[in-house]
Amino acid sequence: MSENYRGYRGPALATLQEYSAQVWSDVEIHIGTGTFTGIVLPRSETADPHHIVIKLRSGYNVGIEATGVEKITVQGRKEAHYKIPEKEFPFDPAKPRVKLLGTGGTIASRLDYRTGAVIPAFSPGELYGSVPELADICNLETEKLYGVFSENMGPEQWVGTARAIGREIEKGVQGIVIGHGTDTMHHTAAILSFMVQNTPVPIVMVGSQRSSDRPSSDAALNLMHSVKTAAESDIAETMVCMFGPTSDVYGLLHRGTRVRKMHSSYRSTFRTIGDIPLAMVSRESIRPLRHDYHHRRQDRNVTINTAFEERVSIVYYYPNMKPDIIESLVDNNYRGIVIAGTGLGHVNKPLYPALRRAQQKGIAVYMTVQTLWGYVQMYVYDTGRDMMELGVIPGANMLPEVAYMKLGWALGQTKDVLKVREIMMTPVAGEITEREPSNGYLIFQGGIPEVEEFISRYRR
Ligand code: ASP
Repeated sequence: MSENYRGYRGPALATLQEYSAQVWSDVEIHIGTGTFTGIVLPRSETADPHHIVIKLRSGYNVGIEATGVEKITVQGRKEAHYKIPEKEFPFDPAKPRVKLLGTGGTIASRLDYRTGAVIPAFSPGELYGSVPELADICNLETEKLYGVFSENMGPEQWVGTARAIGREIEKGVQGIVIGHGTDTMHHTAAILSFMVQNTPVPIVMVGSQRSSDRPSSDAALNLMHSVKTAAESDIAETMVCMFGPTSDVYGLLHRGTRVRKMHSSYRSTFRTIGDIPLAMVSRESIRPLRHDYHHRRQDRNVTINTAFEERVSIVYYYPNMKPDIIESLVDNNYRGIVIAGTGLGHVNKPLYPALRRAQQKGIAVYMTVQTLWGYVQMYVYDTGRDMMELGVIPGANMLPEVAYMKLGWALGQTKDVLKVREIMMTPVAGEITEREPSNGYLIFQGGIPEVEEFISRYRR
């Protein structure tokens, strides 16, 4: 797309073209209720196709719906330059090579206050310009794979990212960082944990909850932590690296199959579920919290298995759910269903006949728990036993999203439900563990009350 219409598509683009207006045109836009005067701004690649965005003389930006535009008069052109100063990333032969693969999300964008445009900040030069500390850690190479907000990630991007990881490992990088929107980072972390097996180097996913132009942004620190982990850590697994506590004290490394975004706005949103995190990372050090991880290796052997069956769904059970929800998946030829059940893994009785149909049609149905912590246990109540008779397979302590990804991956490899079951129930990357650590739930989810009380006596 031409720079003159950067980010514009559909009706918004057509309207601009109709009146010979372009990005940076100084315009008057007439709509039924009045006139707006300002500069047409570029839009991000993921913006909607319906609005023309202009910066008003007051400095505010407004989006004007293209269909309501009666006329645009162009008065001139005022181009703004909004690039982050590029500095050449210094090369130091003594430092490890790290590759940053960008997929999008807040971490890849920076809001330019002057223009109101969200711009990508991803070339090594731009990153070095905004986080110069990165050059103390490694030689960073960057590549933008995608530029999407993470709800738009899907099989095409997962497969593309897994292949890019394989390529980079073979090329000899010592670590990989993947910039990603936080919203679905744990989904992508899970599928990459399955698609990329036996990695010899750390694969570190990172994002930010606040864009780098905001004073409270977590982008720079998360980047430094993740790049340090990729360059120096001994942990050769797919991980998520994000803020540990809400303050800028340290980051946590979470195993890709045990992590979940748990808060819509806190910077410390990612938590390890059903276990304790892999390590703490600060600008000075990486401190493992456990030792059962895969260690870094010097070889370049990695297995990339990008199988994925898309006809898989997660059904989040709620009381009074009607069987037509399951029926429609059966009728639409879905091949796998992951249920997030109540308590130990339950759904109501009216769903049973639909589950029977799913079983008869050879659909793989797995149970997980909405509680997130804990295991599916289908022997405790009659409900569980009944459902197992209907072919529902208990998914141990796989998180629902992780079970969804694994089922897609397993069904991508085979049509045989018994083989699928074998793949599903054999732990590949920590998605099923034998037990939860007794301290995991308390320590990393808000502290131990007795200790909190003790400390509060001395806290001013
Ligand atoms: N909506 C954004 C995304 O997930 C949020 C973020 O990047 O943190 O892409």
